[in-house]
Amino acid sequence: MNYLSRRCKSILPYTAGEQPQDKSYVKLNTNECPYPPSPEVEKTIKEFDAGRLRLYPDPENKKLVSAIAARHGVSPENVFVGNGSDEVLCMCFPAFFDENDTVAYADVTYSFYKVWAHMYDVKSKKIPLDDEFKLLASDYLSMDGVKGIIICNPNAPTGTALSRLDLLKIVETNPDKIVIVDEAYGEFASASVSNRINDYPNLLVVKTFSKAYALAGARCGYALGNKALIDGLKLVKNSMNSYTVNALTEAIVIAALSDKKYYAGVIDKINAQREETADALRELGFEVLPSSSNFIFAKHKVLSGSEIYFQLKENGVLVRHFKGDRISDFVRITIGTHEEMKTLVSEIKKIIKH
Ligand SMILES: *Cc1c(COP(=O)(O)O)cnc(C)c1O
Repeated sequence: MNYLSRRCKSILPYTAGEQPQDKSYVKLNTNECPYPPSPEVEKTIKEFDAGRLRLYPDPENKKLVSAIAARHGVSPENVFVGNGSDEVLCMCFPAFFDENDTVAYADVTYSFYKVWAHMYDVKSKKIPLDDEFKLLASDYLSMDGVKGIIICNPNAPTGTALSRLDLLKIVETNPDKIVIVDEAYGEFASASVSNRINDYPNLLVVKTFSKAYALAGARCGYALGNKALIDGLKLVKNSMNSYTVNALTEAIVIAALSDKKYYAGVIDKINAQREETADALRELGFEVLPSSSNFIFAKHKVLSGSEIYFQLKENGVLVRHFKGDRISDFVRITIGTHEEMKTLVSEIKKIIKH
């Protein structure tokens, strides 16, 4: 007897990047921040009263929601928080789509979207990026036959970004559809549309503390949008789990938000390091897509993506390789510290020489 649901028997889950426990790698595979979180975070953890864990957290995470609202200059009713933005994005499916509705997204993008669509019996319409892996806004204007659109901006795993103007054109010409913009890497780019949620009732912007804020282990993400959209997400959440953001994480994220200056420095360092690394790789015969993120997507003129991945791993450097149709020649490399990037480039030089 197989007790699993039909859904469970057919689903192909998302494969998270490796978190190896065997030895220490130069870890450039899951777009984590190479620098620690703000010192305010460490202070908060040290001073946290363990006795507070006896109690459930505030089910509405009011303090955290207020801090995020203040950061973005919106009202708390425009903010929804969750256990990582993956959870927030997942909850968007039951909140905004019914069975057999269709959601549109790029053919090369965050591969979790298709898993959630499958999970909730929502159909996917995949829109190809162009030959240079750019997303063409014109493909998304006044769309027919879809209930909603998800755009990852900057996109993953390509790193390329659509301009704010193009993105808003998509939102504007689809007033009857929800447009979800996944800004997991938004802090590294200059194309965020988070300040426009009050102008467009169909715009939902989803962000995370996992990447630019160096808090992947704390698990917190959020959505910004019109109250009606946020209330929909709250309905779903309160029908699943009353306490998605734990008390310690709530305190940690509030501390991180208080230190804007520290994170501005981190983001500047990563962006500068990205350009330096991209130049070094181009000199070694790589095609590197223009990136507005904390990672680069690169393809060598001779070596295959899997070869680079395996050889680097053997030599202690972990990058991400995807087997997907158009992208198996590429590797995705997270931007690490200056030292880590030096190691990466020198290991790649050795592979090329062989
Ligand atoms: C990392 C990532 C997320 C989710 O991160 P969380 O850790 O769950 O907040 C969402 N979308 C994209 C495109 C990502 O790369």
